Amino acid sequence: MPPHTDNHPHDTHRGKALLDIFRQGLALGAQRRTAQTLGRRETYLGMSELARFAECPRAAVATKLYPAPTNLPRLLTLQRGHWFEQGVAESLSGLGIPAFTQLEIRCEQGEMPLMAHCDLVLVWQHPHPAVRILEIKSTETLPDSPYVAHEQQILGQTIMLRHCWNLPAFCLRSPAGLPSGDPIPFPRLCRTRLGISLPDDVEQVDLEGWLLCLSMRDAMSFGPYAIPASDSSAALKRLRRDAALFRQHVLSCRTGGSLEAVPHIRGFHPLCPVCDHAANCPKFPQGDSQPQWEPLIENLTALKKQRETLETDIRKREVALRQIYQFSGTKNWVLSGGYRFRESRTAGPRRLNWEKLHGELEELLHGAGLDDIDVDSLFAHCEQEGKPGSRLFINKIA
Ligand code: SF4
Repeated sequence: MPPHTDNHPHDTHRGKALLDIFRQGLALGAQRRTAQTLGRRETYLGMSELARFAECPRAAVATKLYPAPTNLPRLLTLQRGHWFEQGVAESLSGLGIPAFTQLEIRCEQGEMPLMAHCDLVLVWQHPHPAVRILEIKSTETLPDSPYVAHEQQILGQTIMLRHCWNLPAFCLRSPAGLPSGDPIPFPRLCRTRLGISLPDDVEQVDLEGWLLCLSMRDAMSFGPYAIPASDSSAALKRLRRDAALFRQHVLSCRTGGSLEAVPHIRGFHPLCPVCDHAANCPKFPQGDSQPQWEPLIENLTALKKQRETLETDIRKREVALRQIYQFSGTKNWVLSGGYRFRESRTAGPRRLNWEKLHGELEELLHGAGLDDIDVDSLFAHCEQEGKPGSRLFINKIA
């Protein structure tokens, strides 16, 4: 009997109900996990919050004050991050590498302490004492370069671990979410939990942070992030200054101040289209209301999604055909019904190496005794600006 695929309204309704049950389960799981690994977030400032604050103070303060909506895509993104963290931790423990998961570092700072929760911290003693903090990020597609907020976060963790090294600031959490005893210095935690002896002087330890970005298909690492000893107190000072400012804004909003007084990021920023607090953001002043265009925008958005799916499908089929051709071992066209196909090498694009040209021009001019000619000005003189373009921005408000 063929599978029943009719989209009966009753079945559509039941399908939606199934997704909603799934959504509720994910929301509950995320809530429990936050309580277990991060504790009561309203009582401290976390490194990811500070990193966001460095990008857009308004978005960071609003997220601290108002919980994010629990829609399915957002919950799935969170859950995927959690699965990745577990997977990476399992793969490293399978290799027998000593590591802490969800190491908590607490740095007292007025009423709202600073806290760092490090996804994974690897420790070893030989050939020299070393600590590697790994921050795991789940991304839809792998970025060419790391996001600023992620870099800020891993740098913040590295600064805190270095600064608090010998202070009673480190603890782990039990599976029930309770701190595993009073906070202790990091070398002591390593001795008691991992049986590893590290020097009391952090300067004798090779300490680095790394970002590990994972998508569903691939992975990429960025780093190392390390703070030289000479910069560490200035870096900590900056961190504390940002934390104090953040805390000031949060307290002001909690006592009746307006979120509008918190500065927001200017110009185009990739955070804005996915920001949960964009609806009333002063960056997008209310314009005319013209609801008649909503169907057109929805249609355009749906078409863009279809294009993404189509492009992925096209890429997959092209890869398959290339592989078929390579395995066939032929150098000729392959006939396939009413078609023929082959893979052939094409020359790479030719580009002018501006740096090389600059150097050679400088040498030439120097050889000709024309040192007074400035090559940068010469280049600027020959530069031509293209016609200004325009870009259509469409952000989903809620
Ligand atoms: S929409 Fe953009 S500018 Fe406004 S709060 Fe969000 S991230 Fe900041």
